[in-house]
Parts: sequence; structure tokens; C-alpha cells
Amino acid sequence: MNDLSRLCIHTATTKPWSIEIAIEQYARAGVGGITVWRDALSGRDPAAVGRRIRDAGLEVVSLCRGGFFPAVDRKARRKAIEENLRVVSEAAALGAPVVVLVCGADPEQALESSREQIAEGIIAVNERAREAGVRLAVEPLHPMYADGKSAINTMQSANDLCDRVDDPNVGVAIDVYHIWWDPNATAEIKRCGTAGRLFAFHICDWRVPTGDLLLDRALMGEGCIDVPRFRRIVEGSGFDGYREVEIFSTRYWSMDQSRYLEMIIEAYRRHG
Ligand code: ZN
Repeated sequence: MNDLSRLCIHTATTKPWSIEIAIEQYARAGVGGITVWRDALSGRDPAAVGRRIRDAGLEVVSLCRGGFFPAVDRKARRKAIEENLRVVSEAAALGAPVVVLVCGADPEQALESSREQIAEGIIAVNERAREAGVRLAVEPLHPMYADGKSAINTMQSANDLCDRVDDPNVGVAIDVYHIWWDPNATAEIKRCGTAGRLFAFHICDWRVPTGDLLLDRALMGEGCIDVPRFRRIVEGSGFDGYREVEIFSTRYWSMDQSRYLEMIIEAYRRHG
């Protein structure tokens, strides 16, 4: 059974709750950390939210999310970089040490072109991020999202991108939902750890059968991902940070969120 000190929950997991309620409820339940999604900050001062989180005894783990760099249109690419600089400023104000990047893809161009533009975008943002004390974590996304969400779809692709950028401020966010199927995942997680680039670890499960390819994520232990095995590989590769529960689920968002939080904690204790 896992204790809760390394448990982090994403605000998107309990999306019906405002961030104020999420902070209060997570803290009361003994959760250690919180990853903040930008929509939860809407209309709020990030610095004030950061203080509120720390005052409640929680740690800010990451800000989700930046990225979406590629576009056929050059102006759109420049806008994406400006937006990512704003994300970095928000993270610094919030006190988040990491920004998670969903890198993006434009279906109007080849994935190779999108990957080029992702590298260019990260390099354009990284200096400001480094100065602000904010690390950038590339999250490889399952290949079913390669059309419009990310041209970075495997750990290998994320590692290759990091090699290309070649800066200790840029690393990888591993999400079991996206990489569990990949026969090279273990070797590439080790490669990532050896390079000192394991920045974040997201957990949930793959429901069988999955009803919706975005909004039907399952609790750990409900599906076909061996989450504890991935945790052992990630931690055996040098990662000692939070295990972040990130579940998008219309099924769970429609239920009582206090009861759902109890279920998250139970699943984490047994299968996290
Ligand atoms: Zn994730």
C-alpha cells in the first residue's frame, strides 16, 4: 500500500471543482502535490493561487500545459511561441518548477516538419524558461493523437528531441496512458533517466474497452496498464518525484467529486 506523500493530483482530474475547492479537498485528504491546469487559473492571479496552494501544505508540481508549436503558417508559429512565453511567466508566478508540453502537430504538413518546428519552438522558449527557473517537460502522446495534438508519440521520439535541444532544462513527462503499448518503452525510460531527463510521471489506466479516446481514462487498477511496473522502471531509472493522477473522464466528472477523490486515493494506495 502506498502512502500519500508522493501522490499528486491534476486539477483536470477533478475538473468540476474550482481550484480553491480542489486545494482544500486535496489537502484535507492528505495529498502531497497538485498539478495545475491553466483553465483552473482563469480569472485568477497565479501568484495568489500559488500562495494558497503552499499555505494549504501542498506542493505545486507542474503547470499544464504549453506546447502546440507546429503550424504551416509562420505567423501562427510565432503566436505559439508568444503564448508559451506567457505560460512560462504563469508557471514562475505560480511557483511551478515544470511546464508540461503537449508539443502539437499540424495535419496539413508532414510529421517530420512538425517535429522540426517543435524543436525550434522549444529552443525559442527555453532561455526565458531557464531564467525563470521553470523546466520544460516534453510529454510524448499516444500515436492516436499524431494528427493534430502531437508529433512526438514515443519515448524514443521525446528522447531524440531532447538530444537535439541538448539543454538540461528540457526533459520528459512520462504518462503511462501514452506509452504503455510501446515495446521500446522500458529501454527508452532508462535512456531518459541516464540523461537526467525524467521530469514528471503521470498515472491512470486504459479502460477496456475504451468508450472515448480522450475522455474515458480509468483509475489505476481498472484497465490493462501495469502501473506499478512502470513506476518501478521510472523510479529504478532515477526518478524520485510525484506520481501524478491525471484522468480525463466524463464518467467520473459526472459523479460526486468527494466520493471520486476517495476512489482515487484507494486506487493509488493499491495500484499507484
Ligand atoms: Zn499526462
